[in-house]
Amino acid sequence: MSAPRTITVPTADQGDVEVIEPDWCTADHTFEGYREDIEHSGAVTHLVIPTECHGQVRALPVGFVWRPFSPTDDRITVAIELDAWHEFDSAGLDRVAAALVEHAATLRVYARQLSTLRTKDGHR
Ligand SMILES: [Zn+2]
Repeated sequence: MSAPRTITVPTADQGDVEVIEPDWCTADHTFEGYREDIEHSGAVTHLVIPTECHGQVRALPVGFVWRPFSPTDDRITVAIELDAWHEFDSAGLDRVAAALVEHAATLRVYARQLSTLRTKDGHR
């Protein structure tokens, strides 16, 4: 294994700050106002939903985030954009996955009900 790569991030409050740059980080570290705002963020993956009206629609973007100097949480986390970006630990991510599986089952119920409603009303 190679040694972790470090980079230097110029900040307004602390001058040049040495920080470990994880392999997965795609963030721009040109400058930061405050050292505690230095944030590593990785590539984002989406749930891609095929729609007839708008083609493939991307939803629920998810990616790694790490603020190594954050006074509140300096651990690597995973963020998902819902109404806003929310961060999860691994147990939290498992709960999100369970909720998505449950929601998938709900969507299947809607699909069956829609099919029945359209058949009953005579319009497909
Ligand atoms: Zn980074």
